Amino acid sequence: GKGPYDPQNIFAKILRGEIPCKPVFENEWVLAFKDIAPKAPVHVLIIPKKPYVSFMDFSKNAPAEEIAEVMRSAGQIAHTLGLEEDGYRLITNAGTNSGQEVPHFHLHLMGGGPLPAFPQ
Ligand code: 5GP
Repeated sequence: GKGPYDPQNIFAKILRGEIPCKPVFENEWVLAFKDIAPKAPVHVLIIPKKPYVSFMDFSKNAPAEEIAEVMRSAGQIAHTLGLEEDGYRLITNAGTNSGQEVPHFHLHLMGGGPLPAFPQ
């Protein structure tokens, strides 16, 4: 999550079409696709099309318009996938303690059934 952006990370390859994904939504700002190892009945990854390593990079460096559009897109995706009524979880992992694996900022959108409570 720190250091320069690695253009060989797996999400960069997905954005370039070098490896496949199962897209569920796309607009000017984001691509959303199914997580390859879903942790909920619906588990989608929402990624900005521009290269940000982590949430810190995105929140510090993205233009305000892009931050707004990415967050607005996340809401639109939750609605479009039918998650708004019964609820969902939207999270991002950042850094070692979180276990962030892929160094391209992403939001996890999970729902489609009851989600486990946060650890106490
Ligand atoms: P992180 O731990 O970085 O927050 O989450 C990375 C997520 O990306 C994990 O939930 C993992 O299952 C997912 N993932 C890793 N590689 C791929 C891939 O090649 N395709 C897709 N669709 N998801 C992936």
